[in-house]
Amino acid sequence: MVLAGGSEQPRDLPIPGRELQGVYFAMDFLRSNTRRIQDEHVPDHEFISATGKHVVVIGGGDTGSDCIGTSTRHGASSITQLEILPKPPEKENKGLTWPDWPNKMRTSSSQEEGCERMWSVATKEFVDDGRGHVRAIKCVKVDWQKDEQGNWRMSEVQGSEFELKADLVTLAMGFVHPVHQGMLDELGVGLDGRGNVKGHTEGPDAYKTSIEGVFSAGDMRRGQSLVVWAIREGRQCARAVDIYLMGTSELPR
Ligand SMILES: Cc1cc2nc3c(=O)[nH]c(=O)nc-3n(C[C@H](O)[C@H](O)[C@H](O)COP(=O)(O)OP(=O)(O)OC[C@H]3O[C@@H](n4cnc5c(N)ncnc54)[C@H](O)[C@@H]3O)c2cc1C
Repeated sequence: MVLAGGSEQPRDLPIPGRELQGVYFAMDFLRSNTRRIQDEHVPDHEFISATGKHVVVIGGGDTGSDCIGTSTRHGASSITQLEILPKPPEKENKGLTWPDWPNKMRTSSSQEEGCERMWSVATKEFVDDGRGHVRAIKCVKVDWQKDEQGNWRMSEVQGSEFELKADLVTLAMGFVHPVHQGMLDELGVGLDGRGNVKGHTEGPDAYKTSIEGVFSAGDMRRGQSLVVWAIREGRQCARAVDIYLMGTSELPR
């Protein structure tokens, strides 16, 4: 058996007002849209529409970009994307060496289509419209400085609080690990310190989990990542399974 169920436990934002209507995990918004454009019957009460709404996307990655593109196609009134990290430089610092990552400003095609992007912003509260629906979010600017150990520390900038209109908020702040409830909990498979299925990619135990005859590959093993890594792990895992079953393999590594 190969566990390849992805990494879809979303990072939450447990701040006041989180329970309000109109605040969704990004995947709930994207999934309802995809189901409808694939002609699946999605009843109106399950469909999350951005039409005519002030949309705020919290999180600046690929998932956030997909929320922007979808909101644009729905005909949102405004789209704002908030990123807690500082604005990256226009050009990467070529002098950087491993393990520092050469960070530079990137703009996705969805962002190019139109949205306001804000950096160094933390969200403090979702504001109720009096009927249990979000009407705005309270934000604050943050400052990032390295401490004496060289670790980045975030602090709020005093007096920088501001409010943004919002009647649809999507939480796109990444995924913490695979969903544990269900298959993984029932199997009782070993997890690593980050909550992913524990397993290596090299050596005689490559892609094996803690359970005999059970393998794992892709985001479920490595955590939320990229398609190219999932393809690589899928191929390597297939080879590991072949060796486990047949003793040898002609599949490429
Ligand atoms: C919104 C979004 C945007 C992304 N954009 C990009 C991008 O632009 N470029 C890029 O490279 N990567 C992107 N990624 C990441 C990329 O999608 C993943 O890294 C990749 O799909 C991982 O492949 P996987 O096969 O490991 O898992 P997945 O593609 O997540 O597939 C896992 C599948 O297993 C199913 N599953 C889960 N549990 C069970 C179960 N118990 N029984 C049966 N089936 C189950 C899931 O429903 C899912 O269909 C994005 C991810 C998201 C969420």
